[in-house]
Amino acid sequence: MSFAGSSMIDPFGRSISYLRVSVTDRCDFRCTYCMAEDMAFLPKKDLLSLEELDRLCTVFIEKGVKKLRLTGGEPLVRKNIMHLVRQLSRHLDNCALEELTLTTNGSQLARFAQELADCGVKRINVSLDTLDPDKFRTITRWGDLSKVMAGIEAAEAAGLKIKINAVALKGFNDTELPAMLRWAHGRGMDLTVIETMPMGEIDADRTDQYLPLSQLRADLERRFTLTDIPYKTGGPARYVEVAETGGRMGFITPLTHNFCESCNRVRLTCTGMLYMCLGQNDDADLRAPLRASEGNELLSNAIDEAIGRKPKGHDFVIDRRTRRPAVARHMSVTGG
Ligand code: SAM
Ligand code: SF4
Repeated sequence: MSFAGSSMIDPFGRSISYLRVSVTDRCDFRCTYCMAEDMAFLPKKDLLSLEELDRLCTVFIEKGVKKLRLTGGEPLVRKNIMHLVRQLSRHLDNCALEELTLTTNGSQLARFAQELADCGVKRINVSLDTLDPDKFRTITRWGDLSKVMAGIEAAEAAGLKIKINAVALKGFNDTELPAMLRWAHGRGMDLTVIETMPMGEIDADRTDQYLPLSQLRADLERRFTLTDIPYKTGGPARYVEVAETGGRMGFITPLTHNFCESCNRVRLTCTGMLYMCLGQNDDADLRAPLRASEGNELLSNAIDEAIGRKPKGHDFVIDRRTRRPAVARHMSVTGG
């Protein structure tokens, strides 16, 4: 059955055209704001196969998804991930999908950048919170900055457009961000900063890490001329142009500035759970209807039912009294 031309509209009139897929909850890093050091990961048997992920994504594309982002965990550590990318690229070839992209920590990019480009991937997000090798090791616990840098170079050589994502962390990289901005813009890359979101138990105290981006922006404005621009990438970032560098900078501010009114996305986990909102616990099991029949009708109905429950917005708040995460699952389950 084809659903071409139809689209998913939620109860608040928002059209759902963007699917983020966390292809694995595993990662070769343990970023302190994202994971505890001794994370318990899902048993491999609970994961959807790459074929099942492809089938699910295909149904979403048939129902109106135009932009698909692979994320995780670290998407490039999922075994045979390029098989899924190659499969999904057929939707780019026939123009059903406008963009196939991914968010990565960059550790495996040197190996995969060219193949990603060959599959029609044009832009990628690389997460990088510092340019200092020692601080990089501290924040990622297990990461090696030189590998990420080699990955960024390989991606540039392959012609991929890169956006750097940095989580703004008080007392860690706030003073480094002007240098990161100059570095990124000097290489023709956008830089987006993200507020820490209270997701999942970690070893650190989030109230210590939280840096409101309104404060960061005010600090940056002492050195740079920032002008708001209407540029959009389909994600939640608000962009400014930086006169001194000629580059673009994005701000993702879930806590200080709610971005839900224009939310066009839903998130799928590697076990087939659909989250209609990153900041809410409500989910819908798509694995059961996926496996219940070979046709896609049950799956399509389950997706419609889930979109009909998409909430108006999230309730993120860094709670200073309880210091508990607002959402129990880690970001690596639903992807960033
Ligand atoms: N491993 C890949 C990476 O790091 O790019 C993809 C998954 S990671 C969960 C996606 C993004 O979420 C990264 O940019 C990461 O910095 C960000 N992130 C993780 N935990 C976060 C949190 N609690 N608050 C804000 N951003 C977070
Ligand atoms: Fe891994 Fe990305 Fe989480 Fe860091 S932010 S631990 S790289 S999933």
